[in-house]
Amino acid sequence: MTLKIKNGWVEGVRRVKTNKMGGDMVPKGIVLHYTAGWTTQGDVATLSTSDRKASVQFVLGRDGELIQIIPCDRVAWHAGPSKYKGFTGLNNSFIGVEICNAGWVKKLSNGNYLDQYSQEIKPDGRFVGNDRTTFSPPGGWHHMYHPRLAKGTYAWEPYYPAQLDKLDELVAALLKAYPTIKHIVTHEEIDTRGWKTDTGPMLNMRRYTKLLEDRSADVAEEVTPEKAPEKAPEKAPEKAPEKAPEKAPEKAPEKAPEKAPSSYVSRVWLRLRETPNGNIKDAQVEPGMALQAKQVDGNWALVYGTDDDGQEVTGWIRAEHLRKDT
Ligand SMILES: [Zn+2]
Repeated sequence: MTLKIKNGWVEGVRRVKTNKMGGDMVPKGIVLHYTAGWTTQGDVATLSTSDRKASVQFVLGRDGELIQIIPCDRVAWHAGPSKYKGFTGLNNSFIGVEICNAGWVKKLSNGNYLDQYSQEIKPDGRFVGNDRTTFSPPGGWHHMYHPRLAKGTYAWEPYYPAQLDKLDELVAALLKAYPTIKHIVTHEEIDTRGWKTDTGPMLNMRRYTKLLEDRSADVAEEVTPEKAPEKAPEKAPEKAPEKAPEKAPEKAPEKAPEKAPSSYVSRVWLRLRETPNGNIKDAQVEPGMALQAKQVDGNWALVYGTDDDGQEVTGWIRAEHLRKDT
């Protein structure tokens, strides 16, 4: 099937409304993500109606269902602090695709697995303590190494054929609709904080870089005269906004997490508090986020880390929501 894009929207796919978006943009690339979630419905809610500061243009279900939340030419909030080939803050020029996928689960000594929200799952896919089951059992997933994960055994959820077929269609449609798109990247390769692991080892990125190469070969063969109008508008806007903000602010947050490995990782999405059990602040943490603890007071810890806007956030969190990053 061929997908068609009109006025920033893919025709014939489910649309979900959100008010979590920025201004207009010219798409220069695509960032692929996994959601770390278990259901399309949950992932779509997180990225559209929830109060979490996260949104995206596309969500792609395990069954191949494609949902669009934000038009392709409007800014969404999926990339966080990011940098790639001269681009910084990729939300402003890259389309996000969130693939419904758990990413990794950690194998426990009892043979069960722990997901990124600290829910325990049996090898056959049943959750411990409730009657939910996974789409496919983690007992059969791939055990793969990832340099950003702590010691231990991690199983990675595969991406499914229906999902990959739809992703091919979507990427092909985006490349056709937006000749300005020149890059297809994963969140982990653009994340400047050094802790993102999506899309992980299960997605063959060669498949997508090949689509880009094939297109540039086609363009070179077919139309030489079109080169001129294409080049002109591109050079100016790309260079200018990039150089200035890049040097100064980016260096600091980038170096820090690399030098001193974070002592904790958040298990949850939640807002930090001003004091132990005190007022809730506007500062938010998300599962997998690297945090340093300044002080621990009984069941509460005062932590700091860098949020998706690249701002340092600090506040109190219940210690049970942290795990040691060894
Ligand atoms: Zn991501």
